[in-house]
Amino acid sequence: MSDTIIFATSNEGKMKEVRMILSDLGMKVLSLKEAGIQADIVEDGKTFEENAIKKVNAIRPYTDGIILADDSGLEVDALDKKPGIYSARFMGEDTPYERKNQAIIDALKDVPDEKRTARFVCVIAAGMPDGTVRTTRGTIEGVIARKPAGEGGFGYDPIVYVPELHKTTAELTPEQKNEVSHRGKALRAMKEEIRSYQQKK
Ligand code: IMP
Repeated sequence: MSDTIIFATSNEGKMKEVRMILSDLGMKVLSLKEAGIQADIVEDGKTFEENAIKKVNAIRPYTDGIILADDSGLEVDALDKKPGIYSARFMGEDTPYERKNQAIIDALKDVPDEKRTARFVCVIAAGMPDGTVRTTRGTIEGVIARKPAGEGGFGYDPIVYVPELHKTTAELTPEQKNEVSHRGKALRAMKEEIRSYQQKK
């Protein structure tokens, strides 16, 4: 298993991004499904870091190789950093994002531009074969738009406007999003952690 990384997700969209970014490590990257692992993962941590580490620990009984897991979400400053770690569950897991996004826009209707700051956060945790666990964190700063824009991406992308790019994250191509996104940044930082771990072996 020393040439294999298991990424603790069943989300194919995420796997595509992860494979693109980690491809130059020269290791096989498998999803839980591809690795044939069915595990109960309970996300009851209080921080992105705790949740990502819980996912890694839930998979440890199944492999002695490198395990990666992520936890991510949207922090809206005017809403006390909500939905945060509850981003997927906000208003119910099955509620369409058109409704979740509109609810955030409505909640901020009287909030002036300078107080509409928000960010996507992604934490990647890695469980190494020697039992150590490392985490990396990436963010992308934006403001909550007054109306949704863009067809790309997923989730809250249409309402997160990045002033420097003059676009919401839903208006970026997948390659552009990988370059600037919270997940891209956290994954590239983790790639360096994995490289340095491999070199010390
Ligand atoms: P996770 O898959 O448990 O990390 O949950 C992440 C949740 O945060 C997603 O279901 C989305 O609601 C939100 N989220 C995280 N990253 C993004 C992104 O890049 N775009 C839009 N929404 C995101």
